[in-house]
Amino acid sequence: MSDKLSLVLNCGSSSLKFVIINPLLEKRYLYGNVEYLGPNKISINWYDYLNNKKKIKHIIKISYKKTINFIFNNILKKNILFNKIKVIAHRIVHGGYEATKSSLIDNKIIKSIKSAILFAPLHNPSHLLGIYESMKICPHLSKKNVAVFDTSFHRTMPKKSYLYGLPYKLYKNYGIRRYGAHGISYQYIVYKTSKIFNKKISKLKIIACHLGNGSSVAAINNGKIIDTSMGLTPSEGLLMGTRSGDIDINIIFFLYECLGISIKNIKNLINKQSGILGLTENNNDFRYIESKYNKNKKSKIALDIFCHRLSKYIGGYITLIDKYLDAIVFTGGIGQNSALMRKLSIKNFSLLNIAIDNDFNNKIINNKIGFINKKNTLPILVLPTDEELMIAKEGINLV
Ligand code: AMP
Repeated sequence: MSDKLSLVLNCGSSSLKFVIINPLLEKRYLYGNVEYLGPNKISINWYDYLNNKKKIKHIIKISYKKTINFIFNNILKKNILFNKIKVIAHRIVHGGYEATKSSLIDNKIIKSIKSAILFAPLHNPSHLLGIYESMKICPHLSKKNVAVFDTSFHRTMPKKSYLYGLPYKLYKNYGIRRYGAHGISYQYIVYKTSKIFNKKISKLKIIACHLGNGSSVAAINNGKIIDTSMGLTPSEGLLMGTRSGDIDINIIFFLYECLGISIKNIKNLINKQSGILGLTENNNDFRYIESKYNKNKKSKIALDIFCHRLSKYIGGYITLIDKYLDAIVFTGGIGQNSALMRKLSIKNFSLLNIAIDNDFNNKIINNKIGFINKKNTLPILVLPTDEELMIAKEGINLV
């Protein structure tokens, strides 16, 4: 089975994860990530499962490209399994209009990722760097690089969900439509939930909430997405760490015309200075607003807005599922860990026979898996996501 080894690279906007994994055995051999510890310092953390060893390396902040090189030369190449890797699978947030499914990376795929930069300006440039450096550092695998797109899973969204109420030619000529995000995570949630419920994916009906620094909700009917809260870009929908989520678009004209803020600064304001950070004025970490919920008014309102919006989306999406619902599933750093958020978001659903059991809810934290609903009510599942496993599965299928 070692002939099925995959290297997964998840080069995010401000994060970087790398995993050596056998997707068929669902076994990890190495997992690492990069943490940004302020303006001048990064920490590269990795866990070598073969030797049961955790390692941390603090280094002075270097460019993203140099960080990728550092990881290959100082960590991956030193791993005894490195030469057995058969595929390098890259997570790509946005495939744009053309790249609709996981593919071996060639010039055409690179062109699609480049042309989708406009739709994912924070992510796609980092993905391209990851691809270029992998091909350079591992020339023997240069034809075995695979792109796995977050947008692929959302391709079955019906037109009534993905079209905006804008002139049709904007969609036809420029691909302006809703694409969704977190598709790889949702794919994993569907795969794993179907196993837990012992039910065919094609029969599974769930509302999945991927709640992390970027957050979204998805209505999944018979294993297929029918609506999701993120749109053309990952800025639409829920309140997020630094992104506003849904706003009246005329606010942008007010900022531009009345306050004289430049377009570049408005982009920055909406994507990097809003959300939880904007409301608290000092912190985008969910742990912070949770710990200060009863002590600090700004933290309370930020958390209340997050839950209020999430409730509206969940409630709305339940109406899109035909007949009955199998479960509501929580995942992502916040979904997996914030019992308070889950309690407040679900508190008004008892009319629909959806209710949280406080004891279970408080126990299923720290990335544990488990049900948190009251007896004889709709299953509510907390399920840690594993995007890397899904990326590796797609990668190995293609080579
Ligand atoms: P992700 O983007 O999925 O890695 O999730 C990051 C978010 O999860 C951040 O806002 C963290 O504050 C939040 N998070 C991580 N651990 C916890 C926790 N124990 N309780 C509440 N939020 C958490």
